[in-house]
Amino acid sequence: MNRPSSVAAMGNQGPPAPFAALVDRAARRDPQFATDFVSTVLRSARDAGASDVHLDPTTDALDVRWRLDGVLQPLVRLPREVAANVTARLKVLAGLLTYESALPQEGRIWDDTLRAEVRVSTFPTLYGERSVLRLLGASRESLDSLDDLAMPSDVLCELERNLSATSGAILIVGPAGSGKTTSAYACLRHIVARSGGGRSIASLEDPIEVAVNGVAQTQVNAAVEFDMATGLRSLLRLDPEVILIGEMRDRPTAEIALQAALTGQLVVTTFHAGDCRDALNRLLDIGIPTYAVRNAVRLVVAQRLLRRLCKCAGPGDPDRDARPLGLNVTQCRIPGACDDCHHTGFRGRTLVAEYQTISSSNPEFPQPAAHGLWSSAQALVERGTTTAAEVVRVLGLPPT
Ligand SMILES: [Zn+2]
Repeated sequence: MNRPSSVAAMGNQGPPAPFAALVDRAARRDPQFATDFVSTVLRSARDAGASDVHLDPTTDALDVRWRLDGVLQPLVRLPREVAANVTARLKVLAGLLTYESALPQEGRIWDDTLRAEVRVSTFPTLYGERSVLRLLGASRESLDSLDDLAMPSDVLCELERNLSATSGAILIVGPAGSGKTTSAYACLRHIVARSGGGRSIASLEDPIEVAVNGVAQTQVNAAVEFDMATGLRSLLRLDPEVILIGEMRDRPTAEIALQAALTGQLVVTTFHAGDCRDALNRLLDIGIPTYAVRNAVRLVVAQRLLRRLCKCAGPGDPDRDARPLGLNVTQCRIPGACDDCHHTGFRGRTLVAEYQTISSSNPEFPQPAAHGLWSSAQALVERGTTTAAEVVRVLGLPPT
């Protein structure tokens, strides 16, 4: 590769094929460059299943990275001189003010061929504006049904059992990026499929990430004081049988959601918490009475997404690759590199999960989770589905 250093590909590999030619055009100051670059980035990101693209100006370059399976990876490095044109092109597409570079801006690009939205955020930095593109509904995982999520079978079984209930709340919990929303959508699809359209299903979301057939989806709009709590109160008057609440972020939302669960609605919602026990404790912490939690919550599922090893993985040594990280396995595999995984060693993700059923008659509260996240993850390392390092990246070091 005989290119100026500022347009060199990042990482050990060259940029993906469509970018190699573009990088040369950037160096030649081709006037069509920015337009073609932006459309190539958007198309390539969709093709690769990337969820976000980050464009960061530095002292001498515009670094472009994309998030594959939850992890930012270098994509291409462009000469500094084209940064302003690329940002301007994004702003035009997203309907932002091109002359405003001192304030953050947010907009969206609608992709008509893919029927999907790209959210564009710009933010001023020392070296110019950085931009982040979020590809909504982009992840290959978002199209999955419950069976495709590769949930541990005991968790899946418990979840399916509870989804046929007519009241109570099902909480899907985890930190940001743990796939909670994907699982919640899969739950809705499951209910739609099983009921054959016979149940009245509504959602209140912020924002609607994926359109689901058979569900009356609504997006809150804080600008007109249509927030989660207000929207939920109105929604309940429409007598839905099943409600998806995008996320219970605050006490008013949690109170109304659990009230609905107590009075004959099945509520599916996501909640930010580390594991099942943490989720129940956090509900108590924000001021939900113990009796309400015990009587309204049917099931808590806590989950994480772990990257799956690509087919290019090779044999690992447990003494070197797993045991020092606290994973007690008898065999393991380590990442390779190939074009299929964009040389990351991983391709796609899989779920680890634990669940806890809540019984109002059991004096022990919260009851211990039936299936630990850690044991679930350790089994995947043993099976060669993922690596010990990936488990530690996502779950932290094992409990001692
Ligand atoms: Zn590979």
